[in-house]
Amino acid sequence: MGSESHQLHIFFFPFMAPGHMIPMIDMAKMFAMRGCKSTLIATPHDEPTFLRSIAKPKDLGFDINVVTVTLPLKDVGLPEDCGSLSKITTMEMRMTFVRAVMMLDRQIELLIEKLAPDCLISDIFLPWTTEIAAKFGIPRLVFHGTSAFSMAGIECVRLYQPHKKVSCDSEPFIIPNFPGEITLCKMQMQDLVREENELAKFFNAVKDSEKTSFGVVMNSFYELEPAYADHYRTFLGIRSWFVGPLSLCNKETEDKAHRGNEASIDQHECLKWLDSKQPNSVIYICFGSTTNFNAAQLHEIAVGLEASGQQFIWVVKKDPNAEEGKEEWLPDGHESRIRNKDLIIRGWAPQALILDHEATGGFVTHCGWNSILEAVAAGVPMVTWPVAAEQFYNEKLVTQVLKIGVDIGVKQGVISFGDSVKSERVEEAVKRVLVGEEAEEMRRRAKALAEMARGAVEEGGSSWSDLGALIQELKSHRLAHTKKI
Ligand code: UDP
Repeated sequence: MGSESHQLHIFFFPFMAPGHMIPMIDMAKMFAMRGCKSTLIATPHDEPTFLRSIAKPKDLGFDINVVTVTLPLKDVGLPEDCGSLSKITTMEMRMTFVRAVMMLDRQIELLIEKLAPDCLISDIFLPWTTEIAAKFGIPRLVFHGTSAFSMAGIECVRLYQPHKKVSCDSEPFIIPNFPGEITLCKMQMQDLVREENELAKFFNAVKDSEKTSFGVVMNSFYELEPAYADHYRTFLGIRSWFVGPLSLCNKETEDKAHRGNEASIDQHECLKWLDSKQPNSVIYICFGSTTNFNAAQLHEIAVGLEASGQQFIWVVKKDPNAEEGKEEWLPDGHESRIRNKDLIIRGWAPQALILDHEATGGFVTHCGWNSILEAVAAGVPMVTWPVAAEQFYNEKLVTQVLKIGVDIGVKQGVISFGDSVKSERVEEAVKRVLVGEEAEEMRRRAKALAEMARGAVEEGGSSWSDLGALIQELKSHRLAHTKKI
């Protein structure tokens, strides 16, 4: 049982939202490709997405599987179709959803009892899993899914409370004891740190569980943010392994096309469209899996994009309340003017495929960490448009530290809906990131980072080595534990 050579079995338990599940699935694949047995925990709602994503590695003989647990949505008063965070629209529903997820504890215990994994890697929003893992004598590792920059920045704000010393919500403050003189204001902070409510208490439990866990697995690579990786590890004392960019485990077109939800456009049609464009001539606009702009904001984006004169791929969420064929946010005649020149994808885009195509020259992003890291891995400069959560931190990493993006000028975070931005700012930012000397300079820097990202995950690279070191440590832990009992 406990020998060093015995295959390591790891449970991967993501939170039920695309931005959390997609990188966790990639991580499970990466561990499987390094000889581990990977078991992903999904709800029946998400199981088809998981199975589609692991079909190819499974066919290739890697040891990767999915098991399911059922959310007690009815018991907490949520509708049956709310099986994913992307379906949750209010703060109140969010907390109720978190409560339903916490009620999975017994099901997780039964799975551990039955399948006897050696380790549990679970999402940051599942702090209660640390105790469960401890009960069974196995280590729990936390997966944040964000940058060391934002994790360390958030922790420094939480520890030193600089926002309590400013006179108004828009007054900037420097993040204390944090490299690089980075400024922020209260309006851009996460609600859960800013306010003292039930969510804030939950967040404190999340931070405590980070300290009592075995460590943290980061979807980032050391060369991208060395000062912040060191700060996180040394100054804040968090044991962490940098194993990303996880998306780079998807090498073939098919792998990239089948990440996450079923795409709303045929991958071949999408590639054919991109193939017909010049290198770096297309701007890609997508705001992740949970942001829902209103009709007025969509209208401003449409006008700004058209005025920029640049070709674009724009991902627009389907409005469930809109009448079929009627989209009041589109300016008159817009659709007929853009025909063939531009592409609007309604629903889910094959993002990794689009970013990796040479025609894609810029990315307007809400600064979700997966999106940023995917753009870094593809060498694509960004227009940053943060909406909420830790996205304002990520914005600062991109624009002020890495200097591979321009900010659109969002002043405050508004969960799910974002702050409003006028068409002129869209037009200006799109032009800045796509054409001219500044754009060239950012692209050069972005391409250099993309090279480093690839180097990091290749054999001998920093992420490859960190993953190997983690596997080795988990094996030693198992050996020590087996000897004890
Ligand atoms: N994504 C995608 N197609 C879409 C929207 C999102 O493939 O139309 C993927 C994207 O590539 C990324 C994830 O969904 O891997 C979104 O995660 P991110 O952290 O960027 O944002 P979130 O959705 O968590 O706000």
